[in-house]
Amino acid sequence: MGNYRNFTTVMYCIAPWAARITEAELQRQIEFFNHYVKPDKVYLETFRSEWASQEQLDLCKRVFKDHGIAVSGGITTVTEDLSPEDSKRQRFYQTFCYSNEVHREHLKKVVTYTAENFDEFIIDDFFFSQCRCEDCRREKGDRSWAEFKMDKMREVSENLVIKPAKAVNPKINIIIKYPNWRESFQETGYNPAQQKDMFDMIYTGTETRHPVETEQHLPHYLSYSLMRFFENTKPGKNGGGWFDPYECYGIDTYLEQAYLTAFSKPREIMLFCWPSLYHNKVVTPLGFRLKDLDGILDKLGKPQGLPFYLPHNSQGEDHLEDYLGMAGIPLEPMPTFPAYAKTPLLPSSAPSVLVTASALEDRDIIPKIRNFINQGGKVIASSGFIIESLQRKNGIEDLTSIRFRGRYAETCEFQISRSGSSRMYYRKSGERIRFPVLEHRTNSSWSLLNAGSGDQHTSILIRDTNGRGELLTLAIPDLFSRIKKIPAEALTRIREELALGNIYLEGPPQLSLFTYDNGTFGLYPYTTLDSAPDWVKIHVKGKASALSPISGDNSFVSEPVKIAPLSQSETETIFEFRVEPGDYQFFKVEV
Ligand SMILES: [Zn+2]
Repeated sequence: MGNYRNFTTVMYCIAPWAARITEAELQRQIEFFNHYVKPDKVYLETFRSEWASQEQLDLCKRVFKDHGIAVSGGITTVTEDLSPEDSKRQRFYQTFCYSNEVHREHLKKVVTYTAENFDEFIIDDFFFSQCRCEDCRREKGDRSWAEFKMDKMREVSENLVIKPAKAVNPKINIIIKYPNWRESFQETGYNPAQQKDMFDMIYTGTETRHPVETEQHLPHYLSYSLMRFFENTKPGKNGGGWFDPYECYGIDTYLEQAYLTAFSKPREIMLFCWPSLYHNKVVTPLGFRLKDLDGILDKLGKPQGLPFYLPHNSQGEDHLEDYLGMAGIPLEPMPTFPAYAKTPLLPSSAPSVLVTASALEDRDIIPKIRNFINQGGKVIASSGFIIESLQRKNGIEDLTSIRFRGRYAETCEFQISRSGSSRMYYRKSGERIRFPVLEHRTNSSWSLLNAGSGDQHTSILIRDTNGRGELLTLAIPDLFSRIKKIPAEALTRIREELALGNIYLEGPPQLSLFTYDNGTFGLYPYTTLDSAPDWVKIHVKGKASALSPISGDNSFVSEPVKIAPLSQSETETIFEFRVEPGDYQFFKVEV
């Protein structure tokens, strides 16, 4: 029995800390965390450039267990130079050179030591192989770096980690943690397509930190979407989501990582790392919020969003899905293309699917799309997918009249039609947004949304029918962060077209909608980037009698009031309520 019903709260203890902690100090630190977070389990690291001695590991294990905290192991594959010839290698973050015998032996030693101490261990995300020294180059031969690194890391996973660990501890559970840079994995050897079957479990990096003040500029929605991607990669075996307090610059920014990880329904919520969080103000509200979320998670079904096909080892229009997710479109990233079905059964089948340039990693993507559409499905393609397909002449011309001639348009006016009506009206954007110009043949394809300036416009949402289904092309701004500058009415039209389930959101950008398969949903308005309190409308297909707020275990309002419909027609029911940045709200749709 853990401290929470829906997830296990775990913390990571790094080796340099474990190497030095005294028993008295450890007692004090556990007391601090028990007060604020209530960890159920820790991952105790044996090696990270330096070793934690057997004596120190024994001390930590004993004290943690006395407090009812479970202990697993952890490894970080970074090391100081191990021999004089290491000075010739340029190793980012001191990661290993797996072409070098001294490094290889060292890793085996670390793994063996860890497997002797624990029945489970996790490998931190410095496992990648970046080294391009003379030895690595020689071994690579004619292969591309991506091919070589993926081959190499498969071999390293097998021979230097899994085999040596299982040799000393046959019941060991080995978890590989994947970093938050999925689109770059192949270049440094991470290869979940194969590694998911080699390792017992996988784990997800959900460290999004501050979207502006960090080098990576990760949209916060990644803390949710990457969790779902890895859940669909190894269903039931995605161990948890892992985030840290670095470069967050504000408690809410830190907490958002926890919220979005929790909304994805994780098994574990991993807080990295123990010494960085001890006496750190960001964790003081965390336990309070986790307890609240625990109560909400009791009532949520399985996450359900528009399937987003993201093949393994793919890149292209990186993180577009996260910017769409931040604009209120619920998504469900998955590494396999779903089959068509009228009623979604994710991740295997769905009535609609989203593809971006990343899908072109799949050589059979066009036949898959054609088949899906012909059966009655709706494929939503980004402009990046369409443009690159046209350049490759892969057969997309057969599915749409869109052609691209290298032109782009700076737009500030959006011409919108309501669904079911061809009458259009205008809304202006606060700043100019640059879209690719998707020329198409009118009445062969049909524009649902235009953007432009004065007497010339280009389409940003184009419908093509094929067989029993349709292809919908969405033009994407060249900077994805401009999606949030699209006027709310235009964005809402896009949300309506991309909705998988029965509901869509009408309201400002910078607001994520999370939908679940039991008629529940949640909204989260982000605290960063121009967010402000506002009113939103939720459109529910058909008749609904009310929205029942779902309260958590620490809700501000103890007896929440049901929301009555604002308006109702034969086809939909609309509800309206207020949202405030930093506060999630969850509801059940009452029929
Ligand atoms: Zn090397």
